[in-house]
This record gives sequence, C-alpha cells and structure tokens, in this order.
Amino acid sequence: MSIVRKWYCNCTGTPVEMVATELSEDEPLEPACQICGATPSSDPKKTVLYEDIEQWDD
Ligand SMILES: [Zn+2]
Repeated sequence: MSIVRKWYCNCTGTPVEMVATELSEDEPLEPACQICGATPSSDPKKTVLYEDIEQWDD
C-alpha cells in the first residue's frame, strides 16, 4: 500500500488541486496554487489543504 498526498488550495472558496511543477532535477516537487501562488511551505492565508489517498496497488 502506498499513500499519495494530494494538495488543494481553497483561495477561491472551492478547493482547487495544486499542480507540482518540476523546478530542477535535484529539488523535490512542490505543488503550487496556479491562482494565488501558495505552496505547502508558503501558505500565508492558510488556504492550503491536503488529502492522503491510500492506494492498494501492492
Ligand atoms: Zn490559491
């Protein structure tokens, strides 16, 4: 079993899935809101949410 974490931003009042963009090969992917630019580590308005989805693919 593995867990995939999906990130959402609630800045519009409706959770919008945040898309991870690859910065470089050495840096981990960090999702960012395409509307307000919030990320899990930079969330000044506390609009970032996440959901852990269990995947039973073993
Ligand atoms: Zn946002």
